Amino acid sequence: APTEDRTFRPAQSVCPFCGVGCTIQYAEASGKATGTKGPVNRRGEVCPKGVAAFDVVDHDDRLTQPLVRESGHLVTAPWDEAIDRVVAGVADIVETHGPDALGFFASSNCTNEENYVFQKLARVLGTNNVDNCARLCHSSTVAAMSARFGAGAMTNTLDDLGEADTFLVCGANPAEQHPIIFQSYLGPALKDGTTMIHVDPRATATTRHADVHLPVEPGYDIPLLNAMTTVVFEEGLEDRAFLAERTTGVEDLRAHLAEVDVDANADLAGVDPDDLREAARTYAEADQAAAFTGMGMSQHHCGTDNVHALLNLALVTGNVGKRGTGVNPLRGQNNVQGAGDVGALPDVLPGYREVTDGAARRETAAVWGVDPPGEPGLTEVEMTHRFGDEIRGAFVFGENPAMTEPNATRVRDSFEKLDLCVVLDLFETETAEHADVVLPGSAWAEKSGTVTNTDRQVMRMRENADLPGEARQDLTVLTEIARRLTERLGVAADLAGPGFDFPTPESVFAELTDVTPIYAGMSYEGIGHGSQRWPFPAGADEGVGVLHTQTFANGEATAPLVPIEHVPPADDLADGELVLTTGRVLQHFNSGALTRRSDTLTRMYREDALQIHPDDAEARDISDGDRVRVWNDRKEVAVAVDVTPATRRGTVFMTFHFADPLVNALTSDDPLDPVAKIPEYKHSAVRVEPI
Ligand code: SF4
Repeated sequence: APTEDRTFRPAQSVCPFCGVGCTIQYAEASGKATGTKGPVNRRGEVCPKGVAAFDVVDHDDRLTQPLVRESGHLVTAPWDEAIDRVVAGVADIVETHGPDALGFFASSNCTNEENYVFQKLARVLGTNNVDNCARLCHSSTVAAMSARFGAGAMTNTLDDLGEADTFLVCGANPAEQHPIIFQSYLGPALKDGTTMIHVDPRATATTRHADVHLPVEPGYDIPLLNAMTTVVFEEGLEDRAFLAERTTGVEDLRAHLAEVDVDANADLAGVDPDDLREAARTYAEADQAAAFTGMGMSQHHCGTDNVHALLNLALVTGNVGKRGTGVNPLRGQNNVQGAGDVGALPDVLPGYREVTDGAARRETAAVWGVDPPGEPGLTEVEMTHRFGDEIRGAFVFGENPAMTEPNATRVRDSFEKLDLCVVLDLFETETAEHADVVLPGSAWAEKSGTVTNTDRQVMRMRENADLPGEARQDLTVLTEIARRLTERLGVAADLAGPGFDFPTPESVFAELTDVTPIYAGMSYEGIGHGSQRWPFPAGADEGVGVLHTQTFANGEATAPLVPIEHVPPADDLADGELVLTTGRVLQHFNSGALTRRSDTLTRMYREDALQIHPDDAEARDISDGDRVRVWNDRKEVAVAVDVTPATRRGTVFMTFHFADPLVNALTSDDPLDPVAKIPEYKHSAVRVEPI
């Protein structure tokens, strides 16, 4: 348990939960967090999760000593012994099987500096097998947007998006999942007359503010979006000047969509064709229309194509490269954007430069002293699929794949096949239960560094609390392991510059700006208590707000339009089966490892419930509050039901925040999206019956 005499002090930091990036600090009067006036929450506003952010920092469950596995059990051990085991275990694997037998799971909940050091360690040891849970949320969005525009992040900024006449929100619920964005940016615009179209299988808190709701059947976004683009062409609403100046391939797209029957596609997508036409007209006729895209779009085995279909609609209507427009992924974790920016991905170096790009590798090697490997590594799910086979050891930093990966029973079994599993975390998570060594790290309020929010703003975190017990700074742990491993494996002598001798997070940031061109002009001093936004080239006075204004981020004058075919969901529905889709609620965050330990938040939302439409409930003789079993050939879980017309007929919904019921025991890990390798969390065939 944490020590009782810990010191807390107020210092502006960043909320550890969602990607909005509200600034918060310790409040002496309440012992909780309070908002500070920051770059996003300008009036110091925070949502309930932000207020509860200290609940987890001083929680009794905090790990305060390293644990090592002895005779099948995790027992406390001195730091020296724990680190010795990590170094010996990793080195043995590299020497016996080669560096590609290691898998590095980086953390989108930790700082840019920590993720930078983590991916550098993987690459200096000789493998690109490093990924973070961006793989599981928006990797498909990034893949599609990078292919078209040269950048996978929000095209616009929260500030200019308020100017939009129309919001098109696809597969996202910002009123609950990005509450301060909704309250402080979208809400005022809606009050001033901005129209909102909401595409989502469920009626959520966001839908209550929408003018048009298209309750799309999970897995049918492409027919819906193709039909909307078809309406634009059929009714002559396309932006011809933009198409001529800024796009290629319009005739191919037009020919492809000439085959589309709007009514048939609306029927396939499960929406009213008149509503679909109205939505298309509203979006196309707006002077400025901004699209938002969430995990309802990205978490499919055709997630990349879903986003491509949305990009077609935005480009055809000229809604890219201007204020109040664009395609804007709403990112989940507080540093999921930054973890990718600084290279915690298997196919790109820091700054999204392909590992296959020889010039990028040479420039990185000039700073590191060691060449990064030139072949893309494995993604998160690909790694767990190979545990015990090609992958012999895993280093899991601040993530919980035993809960967050699909087909979780398979994942948990696969952890048992590893020769070595190292976990660096705050708690004995569901993943730590399978570890050989568990290292107690630092919570958000105990560390300093930077994180990058959903609209590309880099902000500083500052220490509000001392570490509990023997817990250590994540950065200290990572750099010590890296120093000792590189010495043991004979790599240390080749390292240039500081190698892994970073005395402060700021010294890491200085190196990462040298190898991350989109961060090149940034500094801690420049960020101060505000933010700096990427791209921020060296020598610039400030970062770029709206992207793709004159040319696209890849330097091209035009972006291609790409015909996209519908890809049916992978799970076929047998008679009597329902579609299970998953998502979040306001009070919890991701695997719930943090928020389930907050009394404040669990009082507000204590246990999960299966949302089911009244007709589907009646057909199964299920009443509100009953417990049911939900199963498929992957697993079975038991859960109470919430009978509600908020979910569409034939679709049931659960959150992914709870270990019991563990919804990801039911989700599918095969097939993955062929480009982004993201699983299809949003469509699983299940049966539901009363217990
Ligand atoms: Fe934290 Fe997100 Fe809530 Fe802001 S909106 S306080 S960043 S959880």
